[in-house]
Amino acid sequence: MKLRPVLVCAYACALMLNPARAQMCSDADLLVRNAHIITMEPELAAAAAMAVRDGRILAIGDDAALAGCASARTKILDLHQQTVIPGLIDVHTHAMEWTKSILRGEIDATFPGVHSIADITRAAGERAAAIKAGEWIRGSGWDDAKLAEHRYITRQDLDSVAPDNPAYLEHVSGHLAVVNSAALKLAGIDRQTPNPQGGVIERDKTGEPTGILKDTAMLLVSDRLPPDPADINVRAAQLISQKAAALGLTTIHDIFISEEEIRGYQDAYRRGWLKIRVQMSPRISSQADADKLAQMGVHTGFGDDHLKFGAAKMFADGGMGARTVAIYPPGVIGEPDNLGVLRWKPADMQNAHLTAAAAGWQLETHAIGDRAIDEVLDSYAAVIKQLGLHDHRFRIVHAGISTPAIQKRIRELHVVVDGNPPFVYWIGSWFQKYGPERVRWCYPAKSYIENGIVEAAGSDVPVTPLSPWWGIWSAVVRKELQTGTVLAPEERITVEQALALYTRNGAYAGFEEHEKGTLSRGKLADFVVIDRDPLSVPPDQLKDITVLRTYVAGQEVYGK
Ligand SMILES: [Zn+2]
Repeated sequence: MKLRPVLVCAYACALMLNPARAQMCSDADLLVRNAHIITMEPELAAAAAMAVRDGRILAIGDDAALAGCASARTKILDLHQQTVIPGLIDVHTHAMEWTKSILRGEIDATFPGVHSIADITRAAGERAAAIKAGEWIRGSGWDDAKLAEHRYITRQDLDSVAPDNPAYLEHVSGHLAVVNSAALKLAGIDRQTPNPQGGVIERDKTGEPTGILKDTAMLLVSDRLPPDPADINVRAAQLISQKAAALGLTTIHDIFISEEEIRGYQDAYRRGWLKIRVQMSPRISSQADADKLAQMGVHTGFGDDHLKFGAAKMFADGGMGARTVAIYPPGVIGEPDNLGVLRWKPADMQNAHLTAAAAGWQLETHAIGDRAIDEVLDSYAAVIKQLGLHDHRFRIVHAGISTPAIQKRIRELHVVVDGNPPFVYWIGSWFQKYGPERVRWCYPAKSYIENGIVEAAGSDVPVTPLSPWWGIWSAVVRKELQTGTVLAPEERITVEQALALYTRNGAYAGFEEHEKGTLSRGKLADFVVIDRDPLSVPPDQLKDITVLRTYVAGQEVYGK
């Protein structure tokens, strides 16, 4: 009776000591060795070597154990103790929208390149001088909170430099735009035009439009923008692949994309230009969109491990930058009656959710204010019940104001949160417009962990920069950009927890936890070599971590 456990241990221990033999490793395509590998696996915290064949991890362990994995043809990558992590996952980007704005040559009004309305009007004036009368001026990325004047741009600001060209300049939040008088005229917007459902045409004291259009009101002008060149989407897909790979992102989710953008990804993939993996999330802005998606006959997961359909995306409310998130009273500071906007009537949202989910779509819905999140959770609860769903992984996108009561509901419904760690740094000043009680529950990463809620992470590029290192750093320190104030310090998490948001949890949100998110035998060989060890550098250096090499399916897709 005493011998038996010893024998069991002898066998198990031999496997542990010789993982190469246990994993039947031979004739690898690539052998990474002499590395500091952070696997993100709970049991195998660190390793030194990793063998890859046919795009997947054949074995992972120490150098001696994996030496036998190599044959004469095996490529050896000796990393001299450099750090390796799993390929990072950003579950919420508007990647193609962003790269298209670059390819169009839009005025880049993002901080820190731009500091004032004067900077922006100067750029608009220069653009007007360079083009013909009647041609559009486009720009994006401005943030009133970071402009010296601390106010929205107005149509008058733009009229003064561009009286003869319609101008459309989108706010960094994506939830409002400023247009000039020429653009208002083209769109037929005047003091009589009513606000559309889910949108606001801002007006001055006399009732005249100021040029600020919020949420769905933006479409009144953006629908009139000139068409893009036919190949812009395929080029935008190529550009996002390059930019993501250089930052260590091997999977991104591109959210709320159009048919043309889906085609762009598909064409880029066929041409070999798409080196990273993409989940495409199509948009549902109306019941007609939901019906169309349902009738297509494809659903979440269709595609392959390189390019596939992700969740179907809807919007419940607006943005904090536009002060249009749907909240319970009291309203925004200084605007007590402003409780935000809801884009859908609750019954309509539920119908659209039901249509898409019944056709096999995972759902993800943008909701930042507590009132919007509750509306979405009500709808999800009804759909889950009606369809008898179990492993649905419906997602709340942002879940900005996530009170304890809301977190309880999220956990009970097994809803996943697509959170945004970098928001605390880049746009934390917007939180403060909602009062200190709400700041306490803005993007509460630690509470999610304690409450057993899975949070994945997204940059929401172009709202914040694509680099996941800003998010990892921000999740750990929670400093706000303008004042350096630590917002809700109780919600700071460890570096390891922050990395999990961008690896394991991102994989889970996309139903891919068996394929990626950790480095272990059988998973896709997506990994990143970085210039320092995030687990041991001072926290302030996290944002400065540089990617040296990025591998997708064992192939180098970026090298510094
Ligand atoms: Zn977004």
